[in-house]
Amino acid sequence: MAMLETEPNRLSDHCIRHKKIDRDALRVLRRLHDYGFYAYLVGGSVRDLLIGRKPKDFDVVTSAQPREIKRLFRRCRLIGRRFRLAHILGEGGKIIETATFRAKPKNLEHGQIIFDDNQFGTPKSDALRRDFTVNALFYDADRDEVIDYVDGLSDLEAGLLRTIGDPTTRFREDPVRMLRAVKFAARLDFDIEPDTRMAILNERAEIGKAALPRLYEELLRLAGGGACVETIRLLDELRLLEILIPELAATLSRLTDAERQRIDRLFQALDAQMAAIPRMPNGIIIAVLMWPVVEAVIGSLAEPIQNSRLRYLVEELTRPLAIRVCVPRKVMESTIMVLVSQLRFERLVGKKNARQSFARSPNYAAAVLFAQIRAHAGHLSPDSARQWHELEQEFVPPPLFESRPRSGNRKSRSSRPGRHQGRRRSPPS
Ligand code: ATP
Ligand code: MG
Repeated sequence: MAMLETEPNRLSDHCIRHKKIDRDALRVLRRLHDYGFYAYLVGGSVRDLLIGRKPKDFDVVTSAQPREIKRLFRRCRLIGRRFRLAHILGEGGKIIETATFRAKPKNLEHGQIIFDDNQFGTPKSDALRRDFTVNALFYDADRDEVIDYVDGLSDLEAGLLRTIGDPTTRFREDPVRMLRAVKFAARLDFDIEPDTRMAILNERAEIGKAALPRLYEELLRLAGGGACVETIRLLDELRLLEILIPELAATLSRLTDAERQRIDRLFQALDAQMAAIPRMPNGIIIAVLMWPVVEAVIGSLAEPIQNSRLRYLVEELTRPLAIRVCVPRKVMESTIMVLVSQLRFERLVGKKNARQSFARSPNYAAAVLFAQIRAHAGHLSPDSARQWHELEQEFVPPPLFESRPRSGNRKSRSSRPGRHQGRRRSPPS
């Protein structure tokens, strides 16, 4: 591959300004540089700065080895068993993740899944082991230059998501990269380059080989990344949805255009709430993905389902997803409660005791939030919206998240339940 032999492209005429870079990240870069190490900003921060988006976080990559990094920074922890990373603490508990340049694992056979990713390398090897060209750009703050080993700058300009190297190989090494491709394409409004796209279509079954907790994390990032409509559309188009959430894929495939638009409004409403509530409970994100399925099944029943059967039905419908991507039990419990509460709600009207015990349930706040998402999407009838509103007035939902106890006194705090609103609830999962 010619790319391997060439020197990087260095660009000094770019739009990155130091005032847009996190101060702590700049401090880390400067100190490493002062002590004679190479140190660059890397990954999503460089990509986002170059396209004028606000980066989520600022990662640093350096020639210093973990123990050397630790010696240079007082507030620094080394984490990770296989590949040691440094977490350098900045203002307000912020973390600047600082990694040593890595190389591709030695003796890696073509397309073999990567288990051991633990070898130090050079800037070039570090760029080449990354997933997409637009994610492999370095920014050298000292020389104010963008360093490009992978032709990422031209892809960034063209709005193209392209794997570094052969896409089939790269997806076999790590199938989660296919989901990452969808996440970035949807979020950045980029196109997936044709060969990369074709490889996803061909290799999509490899998703089954990924570690389940990673699939769960990635599913949350996909749906909760602020571009849910486009993400679901792309997952569906690339036939990843039928692997990840076949229940949703099947439901969507049966909808008319108007019904599909109605569901898209629900996904849009989730996006809007994600922007307003940075720590959206995971149970709600999963509930949004499963709600169209639950609604369709309930709608197809010949007779109204009894209250006592509702929970059973929702459990049956959601269990396969919980197993498939390993949703933690607490999150799943919250998802089930939220979904059941939407279905039971209308049966509570006028029943004072039932309303009160509903408002005392641990997932009441999450149920209200989910109803708000449905209301935003225009899914609630005016009557239903009014009734939810009255319930909220009568029983003000507690905050979704409590502030964390400072020291290990969680036990003594939670062992003093009060009545209804004063009662301590565990945060919705
Ligand atoms: P975000 O804005 O979501 O944080 P990001 O590009 O920073 O996007 P991260 O998941 O934070 O993505 O990862 C940081 C960088 O690490 C990526 O930009 C990429 O270079 C590299 N990377 C992450 N995951 C992989 C992977 N599975 N394979 C190869 N490289 C990866
Ligand atoms: Mg990042």
